[in-house]
Amino acid sequence: MYEGIVQDLIDELGRLPGIGPKSAQRIAFHLLSADPADVRRLAATLNEIKDKVRFCRLCFNVAQAELCRICSDQRRDPEQICVVEESKDVIAIERTREFRGRYHVLGGAINPIGGIGPDDLHIRELIARLADGTVTELILATDPNTEGEVTASYLARQIAPMGVKVTRLASGLPMGGDLEWADEVTLGRAFEGRRVVA
Ligand SMILES: [Zn+2]
Repeated sequence: MYEGIVQDLIDELGRLPGIGPKSAQRIAFHLLSADPADVRRLAATLNEIKDKVRFCRLCFNVAQAELCRICSDQRRDPEQICVVEESKDVIAIERTREFRGRYHVLGGAINPIGGIGPDDLHIRELIARLADGTVTELILATDPNTEGEVTASYLARQIAPMGVKVTRLASGLPMGGDLEWADEVTLGRAFEGRRVVA
C-alpha cells in the first residue's frame, strides 16, 4: 500500500477493464514520472469525454450530437442495419469499407453468468427501428464467441417473425475472440460471405 493519493490513483486505474494490480501500479508510476503537460492533457481528455461525448439516440453509437455521424449521413443505406456489441466494432467494420448501411450498438452481449439479459441491451430499441418496414436486412455482427453467438441466435429468433432478412457474418473470424481483433481483409470477407440465418 502506498500513501494517500498514489494509492488512490492505483486503485482507480485497477478498476479499468483488463488492468490488474501490477499494471495499475506500473501505469501509476509512469504517470508520476511523466511530463506534467502529458498528464494534464490526459486528465483534460478524461474530463471532456463525460461532458462532450454522448450516445446516438437512434443507434447508440458514440456521438457528439443527438445523432451519430453515420445516422446523420443521408448517403448511408437505410435498408440495412448491422448489429454490433460496442462502438469499437462500428470502427472495425467501417475500416473494411464493405458496408454502406447503418448500425445498431447493443451495448454488450447476453451473458447469463455475468447477469446480462436481453433487457440490459438496446434490443427493444432495435425492434422499434424495424417497425416501419424500411429495413430489409439485419446483419448480426456480434463477437465470434459464446456470448456473441447466444445474442445472435436470440435476435434471430425475435426478429425472424417480423419478415426482415437476418444474416450472420461468415465463419472464418477467429473463434472466441473479439470482432475488432480481426484484420480488415478477414472481416471484409466475413461480411461479404454472410449467410441468411432467419
Ligand atoms: Zn447513430
